[in-house]
Amino acid sequence: MAFRCTAISRLFRGAGTRLAAHVGAQVTFEGSGAEGILDQAIVRLEQERSGLFFLHWPDADLAGHSDGWMSPAYQCGARQLDGALERLARVTGVLDDPSTVLIACADHGGGGIVANDHCSRHLEDITIPIVMVGGQVVPADLGAGASLVDIPATVPWLLGIPTPTNYAGRALTEGFIPVRRPVAA
Ligand SMILES: [Zn+2]
Repeated sequence: MAFRCTAISRLFRGAGTRLAAHVGAQVTFEGSGAEGILDQAIVRLEQERSGLFFLHWPDADLAGHSDGWMSPAYQCGARQLDGALERLARVTGVLDDPSTVLIACADHGGGGIVANDHCSRHLEDITIPIVMVGGQVVPADLGAGASLVDIPATVPWLLGIPTPTNYAGRALTEGFIPVRRPVAA
């Protein structure tokens, strides 16, 4: 069964809000497009200088689904994401800050077989970028097996929280300089 991400986003709002409340986190749905969402997020980032922040920027995804991957609309969305990422990096100072990590990724590729779909095993559908930036990030070959499931394992590792032993993903440790990390109580 396949869901369009726009539908998933609406479906996830209620579930995401309840899940976040369960773990003591807050969820807001403010702004539209990467720059507008970032405008709202910056207010929170300036108020709370530490913690885990998750931003969902829909620009390229929506354009890929509606107009096709690599279409002019998609490329416009990708440029908007790129600009917002540069601004986020500048605002947070992540490039020079060893205590901050920025991880950016897509949730799927697209356009492999059908221009505006991503449900095949075509290389363009299953190739997904993962970008990690920060003062403790180093250039590294993460290996062909690196995937999105490794991100939820990497985040707690960065925070000094053990990854559950039954979790499928692994911390992408080779992407970071070796430092002593805090161990959660
Ligand atoms: Zn999508």
